Amino acid sequence: MTVAPEIKGWCPGALRPMASGDGLIVRIRPPGGRLTPAQATGIAKAAARHGNGIIDLSARANLQLRGVADASHAPLIDALRAHDLIDPDIRTESLRNLIVTPFRDATTETLAADLTAALARMPQLPGKFGFALDIGPRPVLSGASVDIRVERAADGRLILRPDGYPLGQPITDLGRDAVALAEWFIAKGGVTDGRGRMAALITRGAVPGGCDTPPAEPLTQPAPGLHPEGALVALGFGQMQAETLLALAALGHEIRPTPWRMLMLAGATVLPDVAGLITDPADPLLRVTACTGAPGCPQALGDTRALARNLAAHLPKGHALHLSGCTKGCAHPAPCYLTLVATAKGYDLVRDGAASDTPVRRGIAASDLPELLKAIHAPHL
Ligand code: SF4
Repeated sequence: MTVAPEIKGWCPGALRPMASGDGLIVRIRPPGGRLTPAQATGIAKAAARHGNGIIDLSARANLQLRGVADASHAPLIDALRAHDLIDPDIRTESLRNLIVTPFRDATTETLAADLTAALARMPQLPGKFGFALDIGPRPVLSGASVDIRVERAADGRLILRPDGYPLGQPITDLGRDAVALAEWFIAKGGVTDGRGRMAALITRGAVPGGCDTPPAEPLTQPAPGLHPEGALVALGFGQMQAETLLALAALGHEIRPTPWRMLMLAGATVLPDVAGLITDPADPLLRVTACTGAPGCPQALGDTRALARNLAAHLPKGHALHLSGCTKGCAHPAPCYLTLVATAKGYDLVRDGAASDTPVRRGIAASDLPELLKAIHAPHL
């Protein structure tokens, strides 16, 4: 019998951590989407002292400390609060779901502060409801899972665009307009049993008023390497050890987490020589996604990351692999060229689908997977 994975419908925070297979997950939402070197050092030291030293970079550009014992939670929060990383209360924390583009300027800083202040005034929104401040000349956060996007139109005007709708409304007052759009989402029935997403509401036919302006053509996800704004460095599976963050902080750059399993070192003009980073855009590990898996996730039916590291070298060039510990597919909800799903009887293979889709092969032994990947273009697979 297949056990359906548990859908929690909310995201952990620092004040409201989530229990996992390896202890509490404590999620830190970097204020304004950036960390000073001192804040990053404080997080790294806190992760090593109060957790198991593993830090995840989430798909919403947040940092998650893993392996925190119940008794360590309070001293951990005290340590993070000393670095201005803790909200005044759980409500403020849960509403501060904001991703800020790492390619930013002074206008971005001003608007990030305005939007952060507005988030505290939002009506009660579902736990996963989020915002993106993506105001470079062309959007770069289009692939990030959020509900309300601040972008630029082709003529440079700022627009507010509900996720799932192709057009946005020109902004007159960012904070006021964002709160009004969130209120419209609630008024139109976007929330059911405390859950709901903007794109789902739009799919059901809701039409937001005043949205008549298309955003500028979006950019594809940037690659690791040097950019005019600094160095983008990637983390395998979006995970690093506390020592890696400590070493990055010691370089003295502002650190901007991104939703792409990458960190931007603002102003860096050389790639850092720090263990645990991916700086080569051709590294096959960049094409592999794997969730926490066993033993970190209690729902996992098998190993994911160690296996994914072994399989990366066998992945055909130009193709992507998603390894999921169960059919929930947390790490990659969208379809992928190849998806391997752990089950009680081995790994199921899904082609061009998501972890919950029907497999083309079932119950493959882990030891057979490298050969299977090498032969993946065979017609019967
Ligand atoms: S997909 Fe992975 S992380 Fe998500 S519930 Fe399943 S095993 Fe856990």
